[in-house]
Amino acid sequence: MRPARALIDLQALRHNYQLARELSGARALAVVKADAYGHGAVRCAQALQRDADGFAVACIEEALQLREAGIRGPILLLEGFFEAAELALIDRHDLWCVVHAQWQIEAIEQAKLARPLTLWLKLDSGMHRVGFHPADYQAAYQRLLASGKVAKIVLMSHFARADELDNPRSEQQLAVFQEARQGLSAEVSLRNSPALLGWPAIPSDWVRPGIMLYGATPFEQPHAIASRLQPVMTLESRVISVRDLPASEPVGYGARFTSERPTRVGVVAMGYADGYPRHAPTGTPVLVDGQASRIIGRVSMDMLTVDLSDVPGAGLGSRVEFWGRNVLASDIAAAAETIPYQLFCNVRRVPLIYS
Ligand code: PLP
Repeated sequence: MRPARALIDLQALRHNYQLARELSGARALAVVKADAYGHGAVRCAQALQRDADGFAVACIEEALQLREAGIRGPILLLEGFFEAAELALIDRHDLWCVVHAQWQIEAIEQAKLARPLTLWLKLDSGMHRVGFHPADYQAAYQRLLASGKVAKIVLMSHFARADELDNPRSEQQLAVFQEARQGLSAEVSLRNSPALLGWPAIPSDWVRPGIMLYGATPFEQPHAIASRLQPVMTLESRVISVRDLPASEPVGYGARFTSERPTRVGVVAMGYADGYPRHAPTGTPVLVDGQASRIIGRVSMDMLTVDLSDVPGAGLGSRVEFWGRNVLASDIAAAAETIPYQLFCNVRRVPLIYS
């Protein structure tokens, strides 16, 4: 069998979830959309089911996958529904739902439902993606209440720059939120991972941690609390071929690396088709048999090359860790000019092995 695989540490996932709850003092919806950021939504939800206050996903397909696997309790659709017909499924499977647009309110008013809905009413407090304009927020709330279709409304918003700890934008968005919700006595949800970790004064009855559950920091700079997170995924493979090159020989597509000295090259079964970023440049760190090494040359679809010259004892069959406990996904993301979210979501083809 091809040796590329992703090890998923469910104990670390549980640790990170508990940390989210402990730090926020709030109830936490574990965000398991996009197949739990590549970690496998069903297995992650099953691992958290006993402790979790609920889950959040992007769309009904993801929610139904969890229900079919026996996940009970709250599941929130973070983007609500995309067409009115989904309301029948939301009703049947007892899902919670974000409402962010007027047409959704009209659809709810007209729907025939077996039970009242739990809705999260989204305010656009400054991200300018989805949500009600502050001037329309109270009217949206009152109209939903008057529909007779609603059991509970949670007030929510989402911050655009919470990962920038010295940027005042989160406080400005909070002020917009507080102003828009004046007089409404309802539970509140404002914080995703960066807001949860970096903005403790932002009030929340519910938090919505995603990336921190998987053990990666949402911040570019080192962060004391984020360093208490435990990485959940270890992406690894093995050296499948070794080349001893003299000086001045190019390696791989486009000859992006040329040896300056005699170089021992390890070819590893891992490529961009597995989710390793093609843009990781020469010098991106990896661990080979637990020792520091680096990527050299271009990452190709199924293989990449590492420098074994200074890794004593390394050779055919050596274990290579791309990210995990010892190589932080956030460091690799920075090297490849992306974010850990995208690294995790891109992982595919490799088997996920749970422990
Ligand atoms: N809440 C909402 C509305 C989201 O869209 C997301 C993710 O994009 C999250 C929470 C989780 O964010 P994070 O992974 O940064 O914790």
